[in-house]
Amino acid sequence: MIKKENILISACFLDIQCRYDGKGSYLQYLDELMERYNLIPICPEIMGGLGIPRKPAERIRDKVMNISGQDVTKYFERGAKEALKIARLYNCKYAILKERSPSCGYGRIYDGTFSGILIEGNGVTADLFIHNGITVIGESHITKLLVP
Ligand code: SF4
Repeated sequence: MIKKENILISACFLDIQCRYDGKGSYLQYLDELMERYNLIPICPEIMGGLGIPRKPAERIRDKVMNISGQDVTKYFERGAKEALKIARLYNCKYAILKERSPSCGYGRIYDGTFSGILIEGNGVTADLFIHNGITVIGESHITKLLVP
């Protein structure tokens, strides 16, 4: 039997209700991905010590602030490190991460004003993964993993 490759995935894509608003997220092609890969779920915000539900947070340069103005950076950094441990443990070279999240977002994230404006940038976990050689793929590019 051919061993499937392990790939990390934002846990909310598996309908784990771990988002800040206590909901999960939809991912197209989930069945096809599960057939082809072992999907290893991570939720860096929960692994960093935050609860469900929690206040929405956005990244502002090196910090992450929640909507009440509290600095929650340490939780995001701790969660990123814990997620990296799992990536190494399972020898994951790819991570399917939720776009625009202050943890998981890759390429574009919210600008820190809580007004829905997107800017170039990555979430804290996506950044740490990239710096450690893990390729991050957002949901809008998921078909890259399904090429025959
Ligand atoms: S931290 Fe990542 S996995 Fe957790 S809810 Fe947010 S986007 Fe989903």
